[in-house]
Order: sequence, then C-alpha cells, then structure tokens
Amino acid sequence: MKASDEFTAFIGRELQGLRRDGLFKEERVIAGAQGPRVRLADGRELLNLCANNYLGLSAHPRVVRAAQEAMASHGYGMSSVRFICGTQDRHQALEARLSRFLGTEDTILYAAAFDANGGLFEPLFTEEDAIVSDTLNHASVIDGIRLCKARRYRYAHDDMADLERCLRQARAEGARFVLAFTDGVFSMDGSVAQLDRMRVLCDAHGALLGIDDSHATGFVGASGRGTHEHRGLLVDGVAGVDLITGTLGKALGGASGGFTSGRREVIELLRQRSRPYLFSNSLAPAIVGASLAVLDLLEESAGLRDTLWDNARWFRAAMTEAGFDLKPGEHPIVPIMVYDAHKAQALAARLLELGVYAVGFFYPVVPQGQARIRVQLSAAHTRADLEHAVAAFRQAGRELGLVA
Ligand SMILES: *Cc1c(COP(=O)(O)O)cnc(C)c1O
Repeated sequence: MKASDEFTAFIGRELQGLRRDGLFKEERVIAGAQGPRVRLADGRELLNLCANNYLGLSAHPRVVRAAQEAMASHGYGMSSVRFICGTQDRHQALEARLSRFLGTEDTILYAAAFDANGGLFEPLFTEEDAIVSDTLNHASVIDGIRLCKARRYRYAHDDMADLERCLRQARAEGARFVLAFTDGVFSMDGSVAQLDRMRVLCDAHGALLGIDDSHATGFVGASGRGTHEHRGLLVDGVAGVDLITGTLGKALGGASGGFTSGRREVIELLRQRSRPYLFSNSLAPAIVGASLAVLDLLEESAGLRDTLWDNARWFRAAMTEAGFDLKPGEHPIVPIMVYDAHKAQALAARLLELGVYAVGFFYPVVPQGQARIRVQLSAAHTRADLEHAVAAFRQAGRELGLVA
C-alpha cells in the first residue's frame, strides 16, 4: 500500500498546482436536458450560451422520438464491435446518408470524432509520407498525427505562405504522399479555414487535403454540408476535399459519435485497420436512429440553419453596438475579447449571477493575453434570449470597465 499512498500524494500535489495556477476546471451540474435554457442542480435557471447545440437538436422532440423508436426496433446496445456482430442495417444506412450529405463515396462511424481522428492517420500513412498540420488543430487531430509514423510539419495558423513552405519542404524531403489537414472551423476563434486557397496549394504540390469539420457539419455552407461547401469546394454534389472527419456530438443532435468520410478504398482500409474502429463498440442504435432523423430534418428544411445564422448576425451586431470587442467573423462561435484572464473570469462570474451561462477561456487554452468569453449561438435561442444576453453583457461589462 506504500506505493499507492506515495503515488496518490504525488497526484494530489499535481491537483494543487492546477488550483494554484487557476487551471482547475470545475464542472457545473445541469439537472435536466441540454437546451437554450438549462436548470442547474442548485435550482438556478440559466440562459445557455456555451453548448455546441448549434441547431437546437439536443432535445428536439423529433430527434428524441427517433432515438426512442430506434431503441424499440433495434435495441439498446450492440455488445459488439462492428466486424464481429455489431453492424446493423441502420449503421450502414447512416454511413450512406452521411456520404451523400457530405459529397463523398463512403463513411465510417466511430464512437466519437476524437476516435475518428485518433484512428485516421496511422492506418493510411507511413514513415514515407508527410502530414502538414495547422498549429491550432484540435487536440484529437494532434494526437492522431502523433500516433502515425509520417513526418510532421506544422504551419502557423491559417497562414497560407507558411502552409506552402511546409508543402515544399515535405516534397523536397522526399515524401511519397503528403496530406495537409486542418480544422474546418476553429473552435476558439470561430475562424473558417481557407479551403479554396488550400486546395489550390495542395494541387500545386501534389498533396491531399483533409478537414475536421466538427464545428461546421450541419450548418456551415448554403445547405449545411460544411466548410467545403462554404468555400466552394462542393461541386455537383462532390466534395473537393479528400478526407472529412466530423462529430455527431455537436450540431447533428449532440449525443455522441463521429465519422470519417472520403473515397471508397480509403474508408475500406480504415474498416480493416483503424484501431478505435476495430477495438471499440458499435455506435448505439438510439444514436444511429436519431442521426438519421437529424439528416431528414436538415434535408427537408433550411429553417433551423437560417434561424441560427440570423441569431449569429443579430448577436454580433448588438454586441458590437454595445461596445464589445469581438473577433470578426460570421460563425455562431462568437469570441468576446477581454484579453486579461482575471477580467475574463470576473465577467463570466458576473454573467452567471445575471442568469447567463458563458465560459471564459484563457492561457493555455488560448494564447497569453488573448483571454475571452466564447459565446455559441443556437437556433433554439429566441430573440428575447439574445436581448437578455446582450443586456447582461452590457451591465457586467460596464461594472468591469470593459464598455462605456
Ligand atoms: C468537438 C471536436 C472533436 C471531438 O468530437 P467528439 O465527437 O466529441 O469526440 C473533434 N474535433 C473537433 C474540431 C472538435 O471541435
């Protein structure tokens, strides 16, 4: 037992360090469904501005009903990985629907987008190849690349000249295949990758292009198909990118699950070799059924998408008029720049007292001196919700001397 005590004491000191440095993450407990308003375990009701519930589907009646129906017809769990006895007709139907939606040939489901990225690079690329990655790519992309033996090149965030430098260098160093990989939308900034320019550069240097579109699938682009559509790379229903990873855990219902989509042979090899697919359970039938209903909803009507973008436009305009300093852009991720970490924390705390749930981000999640409150809008927010949010920001901002 001595080893256990020593180890636990060591871990305890690590935790103290996190608390001392202000990096300890507290979890606020919600007692009910995810939505535009949430009830906390302590009874407070808050306006929720920090969920990835972009289309308001997390508790949408049609989505919940589809999940219930799927459980009735296909059971609760699969008790298997896909290749043993874990593939149902509905899993294949969802893969086909996602492929059609994204403009690809085939799609493979994972338990999470984290797993899709974790299992993407290692089966497809070897030490003979090169992967060129944006410095701000999601943690799961970074981890996935680390698990792979390909040579790694990193370019400064969204810097096309630096991307080209990496592509040239990878070629000069003799790479067989080169893949440039980027988040479609970057979660801390709401910035949108310049995929059109990236495609031109990749073509010029004989490279593949892949994206993680977790903050875009379902609502970015004229018909919500993602960043490739928004940047003009979806032509005649065919995606002009080689690989797309994404999540079912954000706009597409928000439960869990992820996927990788691309050319048929590539997806086929992932089914043979991708470790998080081979050695982890099949997606639950309820999620599969609900995801099919989500795609029905999105293909039937642009209503939720339109409401979301209206909300984003209205909120950005109202906050700018109130004197706040927003990162420019259009995406429903709206970073309200505070710069100072303590002020960002104080602002989030005051907003909470005023009934608004928004989270402050500071170093090391964002660069030093770039602290901010990140707001995420939803199609489920009403105009009254957003007016309440802006009024609370205005009041808290005045008290903290952030706005006049
Ligand atoms: C949220 C997110 C993920 C992880 O998605 P999960 O399905 O929850 O694992 C991966 N990549 C990006 C860019 C994300 O924003």
